[in-house]
Amino acid sequence: MKFAITSKGDAKSNALMHKMRTYLKDFNLEYDEKEPEIVISVGGDGTLLYAFHRYSSRLSKTAFVGVHTGHLGFYADWVPDEIEKLVIAIAKTPYQIIEYPLMEAIIRYKNGGRETRYLALNESTVKSVDGTLVMDVEIRGQHFEVFRGDGLCLSTPSGSTAYNKALGGAIIHPSLPSIQLAEMASINNRVFRTVGSPLIMPAHHTCMLKPVNRSDFMITIDHLTLVHKDVKSIQYRVADEKIRFARFRPFPFWKRVHDSFIDG
Ligand code: NAP
Repeated sequence: MKFAITSKGDAKSNALMHKMRTYLKDFNLEYDEKEPEIVISVGGDGTLLYAFHRYSSRLSKTAFVGVHTGHLGFYADWVPDEIEKLVIAIAKTPYQIIEYPLMEAIIRYKNGGRETRYLALNESTVKSVDGTLVMDVEIRGQHFEVFRGDGLCLSTPSGSTAYNKALGGAIIHPSLPSIQLAEMASINNRVFRTVGSPLIMPAHHTCMLKPVNRSDFMITIDHLTLVHKDVKSIQYRVADEKIRFARFRPFPFWKRVHDSFIDG
């Protein structure tokens, strides 16, 4: 089997990466950064986001596993002390695969510019480059509201514990293919009105944002931030693709939520 390892880049993660690489090679696994069947991310959830984007063109052929060198992560749930156990499990056991939903974002541009498509593992946020964000929000082809405020966040179920949570969004179990829209400081008064609550949409619904006045936006896809100019619309929906995690032992999602936010 072919494997690759991505590291957060700090000394502790790099040392662990080298150790795991040696152990896995000792088990006759082949190191292949281009076409790995399993990608081990060493660092934190941010490192797994990076690994996901690096290998997003071969998601159906790659499984991910995360080791954390800091605090417990949602994607990185193995601790450095367990790497011998993990290496043996990777080398010997046919492992179980669990799949989590992803979100597709399609950005279309004015004046016939070519559309761009992204996949997000956590979320995509939209903010104005300058001034208040004003967006028409359409759900399933129907006008829903005009949003005025700091920004909007569309997240996946596994991303619901990240930025979305800080915005008061719900935590969604990753077995529910859905996307969640959360507001960032909406303006609500006698003139302007938004729903105010996070909205959770099923896989067959599309959420479209259409600029009302300005057309340049700061759009994030997970850890990547880009300024997009002359934007006509941003369309979000549950992606057809999924991320595959290699699972070697049960670690229920709600236990991870408990251990991360209540009592680790
Ligand atoms: P960062 O600012 O260095 O780290 C953001 C924090 O979010 C890290 O502690 C990271 O965990 C954690 N995180 C990432 N994915 C998570 C998930 N699915 N559930 C719970 N926590 C998660 O940025 P980064 O490492 O490049 O990560 C980008 C992410 O930062 C974005 O996708 C966004 O979700 C998040 N973010 C959050 C806020 C906020 O909460 N106000 C604001 C901006 C961005 P690790 O330490 O394990 O890497």
